[in-house]
Amino acid sequence: MSKKELKFEGLSVSPGIGIGKAFVRESGAIAAPKYKIRHREINEEVERFHRAISRTRRQITRLRSKLKGAPATAEEEMGYLFDAYAHMLKNSRLIRGAESRIQTERINAEAAVQTEIEEIAKTFSNMEDAYIAARIEDIRDVGNRLVKNLSRAPVQPFAHVPKGSIVLADILTPEDTAQLNPNKTAGAATMVGGAEGHTAILLRALGLPAVLGAEDMLRHVRTNDPVIVDGDRGLVIIHPTAETQSTYERLRSNQMRKNRQLTRLRDQKAKTRDGTVVALRANVELPMEMELVTRAGAEGIGLLRSEFMFMNRAKLPSEDEQYRALRELIRPMKGNPVTIRTLDVGGEKVASPSDGDQIPVDVSPLGLRGIRLSLARPELLETQFRAILRAGVHGDIRILLPMVTNASEVRRARDIMARAARRLKRRGVKFARPLPPIGTMIEVPSAALAADSLTQVSDFLAIGSNDLTMYTLAIDRADEHVAHLYDPLHPAVLRLIQFSAEAALRARIPLSMCGEMAGDPRFTALLLGLGFRDLSMTAANIPRVKQRIQRLDLAAANHRARTIMDQIDAGRIAALIDDFNALA
Ligand code: PEP
Ligand code: MG
Repeated sequence: MSKKELKFEGLSVSPGIGIGKAFVRESGAIAAPKYKIRHREINEEVERFHRAISRTRRQITRLRSKLKGAPATAEEEMGYLFDAYAHMLKNSRLIRGAESRIQTERINAEAAVQTEIEEIAKTFSNMEDAYIAARIEDIRDVGNRLVKNLSRAPVQPFAHVPKGSIVLADILTPEDTAQLNPNKTAGAATMVGGAEGHTAILLRALGLPAVLGAEDMLRHVRTNDPVIVDGDRGLVIIHPTAETQSTYERLRSNQMRKNRQLTRLRDQKAKTRDGTVVALRANVELPMEMELVTRAGAEGIGLLRSEFMFMNRAKLPSEDEQYRALRELIRPMKGNPVTIRTLDVGGEKVASPSDGDQIPVDVSPLGLRGIRLSLARPELLETQFRAILRAGVHGDIRILLPMVTNASEVRRARDIMARAARRLKRRGVKFARPLPPIGTMIEVPSAALAADSLTQVSDFLAIGSNDLTMYTLAIDRADEHVAHLYDPLHPAVLRLIQFSAEAALRARIPLSMCGEMAGDPRFTALLLGLGFRDLSMTAANIPRVKQRIQRLDLAAANHRARTIMDQIDAGRIAALIDDFNALA
């Protein structure tokens, strides 16, 4: 008998329809290395094991805290599970057994954890009891999390995903997401995660239909179950009926046809009906996006998030390695500008290198993140600048500083860039001359309110509406429980955007927008009306924004923007935008 169709609601974070078989992440075994250690390495290995335990415990606490506000049944059940996990990480047979294996068998911690799990499973193997079977699954889950946090070599959680799978997980970190292969994956869904977090941005960049925050879903699905992810409506459907399946197959082929039509716009200009040209550039998170960037007809890269070079690895990337990675992204742009943002880890964006804790993990969004971290570790920033300057020989580059709050941060970064250039000169290495323009991201309210002072030290301003909305409204962009309150149309956010845009226009320096607002055709008329002529977005959105611009009358958009900026209510603003868009 076929199973009952189940529907779970979540946030529609990445559009499209994914139809396939479930690949439930936690059930996938993790391939961890196994090796012998020397006697004198035992203490170090035990310490490494304990560091991984602490990190896993912090992650469990985070998952636990995410449950607040979830439906009462889910909160109770998952809360109980996470409490059990936290307990297991304190003092359990798994932890004691693995530690003793490191000491007596002299094996690495990953192997010790996996061997201990198998031993525990064997002990109970002839007890046919559902409760015990579930507990063993829990132990495996905790063990997998530990192994993931232990591995020196990056774990590849999706190395064995069968083609066409829908990846389901309780949580996907940006690092996990960066490892999804869009050619093998048909979609993704998780139980936690907000619509504007980095995981969501990466899923959109990979073009994977995705739903985040679909609570309770994992309890009802196993690997290989048939699943549909409806990224447009925020639905995960498990065991779809034949009727649902065929409706969605139809929807999917209609969408594909529309997308093919849009790609025909590739070689056309983004020009309004009254002749104003707008530059549409791509945001790039991963090198694998470059093909789509070229296919979408992007006029360069408006935001290259450099975090990808620091993800899923144990060591910091060297200057040479960074140089080579950047060169591969700059060359295909054939002289179109490439704006490279310096490292922006912290908040929900993580980078893995632990290298003597040079890059801290689990940094609060108000902590040592973005430019603050770079200035606190000037050698890290200088290395990055040297790599960027060298790569600048291969194209037209600009440098962008994230999370700036005052002019002195920009001045100090400029000093470090000058030092990097002097060092390259002494080494006789070729680098970009004259030195590339340095721009400032406006993504914190203080930066927006002090935009006129920042224009004096910056060659251009780029507005980051994602963080600007988060910090202005005090809403965690990666938290699904407050996702309904995240609203870039809040008058406070719009006024900060307008204030910064006017500062750049007055100072006659280039202005762009690279937050997610730039890639949503709903906001295009408003942004043009506020003076933006340079928008950077996920490459897949370029055709839709171009089409919106081509249908737009700039004089009317200016007029509507003025009316909108006089409003004090977000609902009224949304109505004014939607009415205007409906006319075109
Ligand atoms: C932003 O904050 O709007 C932005 C573009 O940066 P990120 O999304 O990488 O934080
Ligand atoms: Mg940001």
